[in-house]
Amino acid sequence: MKKAHPRHALLNQFSLHDDCLQIGGMELTRLAQRVGKTPFYAYDRQKVTERIRFLRQHLPAEIHLHFAMKANPMPAVVQHLASLVDGIDVASAGEMNIALDTVMPPEKISFAGPGKSEFELSCAIAAGIVLNIESEQEMEHIARLGEHLGICPNVAVRVNPDFELKSSGMKMGGGAKQFGVDSERVPAMLARMGKIGLNFLGFHIFSGSQNLKTASIQEAHEKTLQLGMRLANSAPAPVRILNIGGGFGVPYFPGEEALNLAAIGENLQHLLLKVKQQLPESRIVIELGRYIVAEAGIYVCRVLERKLSRGQVFLVTDGGLHHHLAASGNFGQVIRKNYPVVIGNRVHNSEREIVSVVGPLCTPLDLLADQMEMARADIGDLVVVLQSGAYGLTASPTAFLSHPVPIEVLV
Ligand SMILES: *Cc1c(COP(=O)(O)O)cnc(C)c1O
Repeated sequence: MKKAHPRHALLNQFSLHDDCLQIGGMELTRLAQRVGKTPFYAYDRQKVTERIRFLRQHLPAEIHLHFAMKANPMPAVVQHLASLVDGIDVASAGEMNIALDTVMPPEKISFAGPGKSEFELSCAIAAGIVLNIESEQEMEHIARLGEHLGICPNVAVRVNPDFELKSSGMKMGGGAKQFGVDSERVPAMLARMGKIGLNFLGFHIFSGSQNLKTASIQEAHEKTLQLGMRLANSAPAPVRILNIGGGFGVPYFPGEEALNLAAIGENLQHLLLKVKQQLPESRIVIELGRYIVAEAGIYVCRVLERKLSRGQVFLVTDGGLHHHLAASGNFGQVIRKNYPVVIGNRVHNSEREIVSVVGPLCTPLDLLADQMEMARADIGDLVVVLQSGAYGLTASPTAFLSHPVPIEVLV
């Protein structure tokens, strides 16, 4: 029996050749031969480039665009992006070293995150990158280390704002948080900073992640810029960096729509008029992870077995939650929904069926698709999880059950 093909809207990003998905101008089946084994992650270089071009086209020219590399720290991806963006945001010594290997000048690299170790702080001070300070205690620690090293540390204050980013997938500011310094405590901190030998550069205000509501992002931009201008009055030096965060989301599930980037850009253009007057020496930074890389990446695994259990078909594959926790629905999701999953070598084939895609782990959580319609697959076919370029491999528990770690390629 033939069924209509529910063509997943998110598939439009990739072209097909003979019903086979193409990535990096290459047919998936050929790429799988090149990689030599499944599972693997593949990122499309051209799509990453196009996404940056799209952002530049819609955001005001004055905006400095940073890549938050925890979304995808593959060194080749970071190298590629280093020549396209204006800065890189890191959150560990490991990420810092990858960023320092690129052409990005150290003063355009910033390091945020609570609980930075003495080792991380010392290396960062010596590298000359910008440390986003998360607490008063960390400020004192940085000052002592700077004195010891004989280097004046470059710092910005990460502020926990007095508002939340509405409709955000993960809230990272507002209320009580482990991130940043509560905004009401920042003026006192800045007074102290002026006396202890730190090179104050500005503020970092990041309020949340995976937001698909254009209006909430616009509102957050307005409140964040206002907060930055208000705090600038207490600063020991002119504000040179005002990092207003990011949090731009991408659609994963049916019914979700892409952000209206043009509207976000227009709103910013308008807001910047006042900021440029009040903080003429400041560069305004937007830091994005997911939005830059998510849609450029796929995860590929192979069907090992077709298993029938009480009327339901299970495609048993060599991939699973140990490689792609988010697609299994266990990376911060409240309700499990299917990621966009297709059979990559027969995407629109007219023979369809409803199947569950599972992996080799001994847990029912190891589910990449739950009773989803796709082309009928045979043993050896390639299952592709779309929207997998961000928070994929490095956000997954690869050691769980001791299977080999999959390969990543940039094509
Ligand atoms: C994780 C993180 C980001 C990136 O968030 P995305 O939602 O991937 O864009 C940006 N800034 C900070 C401080 C972060 O911790």
